[in-house]
Amino acid sequence: MIIGNVLFDSHEIQKTVRTLAFKINEDYKERELLIIGLLKGSFIFVADIVRYLKMPVLVDFITLSSYIETASSGEISIHCNLKESVRGRDVLIVEDILDSGFTLDIVREKILDKSPGSLKICVLMDKPVKRKRAVPVDYVGFTVPDVFVVGYGTDYNEKFRNLPYIAELRAE
Ligand code: 5GP
Ligand code: MG
Repeated sequence: MIIGNVLFDSHEIQKTVRTLAFKINEDYKERELLIIGLLKGSFIFVADIVRYLKMPVLVDFITLSSYIETASSGEISIHCNLKESVRGRDVLIVEDILDSGFTLDIVREKILDKSPGSLKICVLMDKPVKRKRAVPVDYVGFTVPDVFVVGYGTDYNEKFRNLPYIAELRAE
């Protein structure tokens, strides 16, 4: 597998991340926000977006994976529990990509079970073509076609997470 077309360069990504953060700042004002990032794909997105947020922010992560090679398996394993208490808090789930919707559907249910004060979802990329579960998303960075992307935290077999841009993965 090789890197194909660059979909979003680092400049475009930063512009979009700032726009998302601007909306989040407007919506929450000074309310304390618990950001829950889904690892590993969202680690760079979380690190970037929190630096543009102006309210008091807590950051936590859940580790999970639903992808085997490049196909969504529909089987999701959640590896670690949240360290921060969710009850009564304003929670924002931050995820790299919404694809079939299985991942966010399950995570959303798990977090709702813990009685947050409010719950919203922010995704950097939305791939609506293969959606199987409807997921209410509040903030979307980019809408992307049904291609497999890597970079800016997202991987192919754990590689390419370090690319500063988002590119399409191509067979050689
Ligand atoms: P879903 O459960 O919505 O099908 O999948 C969501 C997860 O699959 C995302 O968190 C992401 O980690 C992974 N994923 C979906 N599409 C892509 C893609 O194009 N590239 C990469 N690297 N991961 C993807
Ligand atoms: Mg992910």
